[in-house]
Formats: sequence, C-alpha cells, structure tokens
Amino acid sequence: MFDVLVIGVGAAGYTAAIYAARYKLKTLIVGAEEGGMGITAADVGNWPGEIEIRGPDLMEKFKKHATSFEEVTHKIGRVEMLEKMADGHFKATMQNGDIYEARTIILATGSNKRHLGIPGEKEFSGKGVTYCATCDAFFYKNKTVAVLGGGDSAVEGAAIAAQVAAKVYLVHRRDTFRAEPYWVEKVKSKENVVFVLERNVLEVLGEQKVAGIKLDKAFEGSDILAVDGVFIEIGSNPSVDLAVQLGCRIDEKGFMDVDKSMRSSTPGVFGAGDVTNGSNYFAQFTTAAGEGATAANGVFNYLQGDQHHGWMQGAC
Ligand SMILES: Cc1cc2nc3c(=O)[nH]c(=O)nc-3n(C[C@H](O)[C@H](O)[C@H](O)COP(=O)(O)OP(=O)(O)OC[C@H]3O[C@@H](n4cnc5c(N)ncnc54)[C@H](O)[C@@H]3O)c2cc1C
Repeated sequence: MFDVLVIGVGAAGYTAAIYAARYKLKTLIVGAEEGGMGITAADVGNWPGEIEIRGPDLMEKFKKHATSFEEVTHKIGRVEMLEKMADGHFKATMQNGDIYEARTIILATGSNKRHLGIPGEKEFSGKGVTYCATCDAFFYKNKTVAVLGGGDSAVEGAAIAAQVAAKVYLVHRRDTFRAEPYWVEKVKSKENVVFVLERNVLEVLGEQKVAGIKLDKAFEGSDILAVDGVFIEIGSNPSVDLAVQLGCRIDEKGFMDVDKSMRSSTPGVFGAGDVTNGSNYFAQFTTAAGEGATAANGVFNYLQGDQHHGWMQGAC
C-alpha cells in the first residue's frame, strides 16, 4: 500500500512526488507517457533559474529529481480506473491489468488537445494533420504549413515552424491574439509567416495526404490555401475522467474543483496542475509545480490526522 499515488508525470506530478518524498511518504508516480505537456514546449523562458531551456530538457530535470528519492516508485502506464474502497483507501487499475493501492491520490492529469471536428481532420490525422506544431514542424522542412489558433501554443508553434518550413499560414478566427506578447512579437518578426485573420477553417482537403484547407472567407482571392501540413493548436480540455470516476466536483468550465490546499470534494483526493481550477486557471510550469507542492503538503496533513475534510470552496 502506497501513502500516495500521484497520477501524471508532468510538472505538477513530479513536483508533488518530490515534496511527498521529502515528507517521507511512500509514493508511486505513474503517467501514461513520459514528460506530459511540458515536452512540447520549444523554448521555456519563464522557469525561474533558467533564462531559457527546452521543454524536454526541463522535464528531464524534473524526472531526475523526483526519481532520485528512494521513497518514489516511478512507472509509465495509463490508469484506467480508480475506486474508493469501503475502508477509505484507493484502488487503481492500470491498462495492462496491474493493480495498485494507496491511501491518498493526487490527480495531476493535465489536459487533452482540442479537436476542431471538421471534415478531413480525422481522415488526415497523422497524414498531415497533427496537434503539436513544436513537435512535428521538423518534418515540414521547406514545405508550406498552416497553424490554426491564436493562443500560446499556436503562436509559439508558428514561430517554431517558420524556422524550418518555407511558408507558414497562421490562421486565426479573430484579429487579435490571446498569446503571450513575447511570442506574438517573435512570430511577427518572421518574414515567412502569413497572417490569415478573421477566418475559420471549414475543411481539410487532400487525397492520400493533406493538400490544403478550405476557409469560410476568401484570402488573397481564394478560399483554399494549398498546404502540406496542418497543425491544430486551439487549446486543450482538462483531463478529468479519473476525477469524475471518484466523484470529485467539476466546475462550470470543466476543471477539477479544488480548495486552497488542492483538496477536491472527495476526501483523500487532491488535484494539481492544468487539470484543476487552482491558480486562477493560469496553466504554466510554475503554477503546476506550485500546485503539486501544495497538494503533497495537503496529503501530508491529511495523513497526519487532519481527516476533517472541511472543504470550503466558494465560502467567504
Ligand atoms: C506548446 C506549449 C508551450 C508551452 N510553453 C510554456 C512556457 O513556455 N512556459 C510555461 O510556464 N508553460 C508553458 N506551457 C504550459 C505548460 O506546458 C503546462 O502548463 C504544464 O506542462 C502543465 O503541467 P501538468 O503537470 O499540469 O500537466 P501535463 O504536463 O499535461 O501532465 C499530465 C500528465 O498526466 C498523464 N495522464 C493523464 N491521464 C492519465 C491516466 N489516465 N493515466 C496515467 N497518466 C495520465 C499524462 O500522461 C501526463 O504525464 C506550454 C504548453 C504548450 C502546449
């Protein structure tokens, strides 16, 4: 039996494991794949102590730190089901059938990329349509690509794609960007990025692979842009499936509802990182790490006998 099962090997999960280990809690950390969302960040310029670092390198440091403790067991695998047993402990069933038991849970499950749901998107997924410009731009050397979206990942993705592709269309349904001004300035400085604003994409076109996208309004005389690749970067939805299984309250925006100690509405279950509504929905490495630390502290207090749940979300 573990003291705490941390689900998620991103910034939130690894930080929770580091703190749990220093509280001498027997900790199991599992994640469906290495590194979480962090490995898709090209250049991270706001992690304190590192003026600039690649996302994969930062996540490798997190992993190395978390797994340096003898209290921490680290496994890669998907948790399929979580159950709360009659005596209050938790049972996790993995995709491969393995079962783990823990006295508490920290859900650090992050988020899933949103899909557009337009014709051609599913058909050409993996054949020119992908959901991570910073991961896949490299495959489009000297080609023409479209990045769809207006947030951080779209604008950063367009800037990265512009380093290898011959031409990048940045297609956004509005005329202004939600992204950090740092990335907006960077993408505006790229001569091979063409801004296609106030346009929606209606369809991805092609035969065996992507050949173009169809817009709702013509751009420079045509409603079709010829492209070799399409990166859909329209944000993500919190991965709350496991929280729902445990009966945790989900807020009106679809995030796991937590209080200041990162407690969910289900006793013994804590949340951290992009999956929660902590940190005012500000989804960053620093906030995910901070929430992970707070969640581990919450677990420690809970196991010390602070069993009174006292869940006061929304109270003045
Ligand atoms: C392109 C891009 C660039 C970014 N750049 C920056 C930046 O420069 N600075 C910054 O501060 N932030 C940046 N961010 C945001 C930052 O990456 C995230 O806020 C942060 O990584 C979130 O960490 P997390 O631990 O909450 O979630 P994640 O890193 O998403 O981790 C979630 C983990 O949960 C696991 N998981 C989910 N479901 C299950 C399951 N059922 N079983 C097992 N495991 C499961 C996943 O496998 C994953 O390991 C960027 C994001 C993107 C997409």
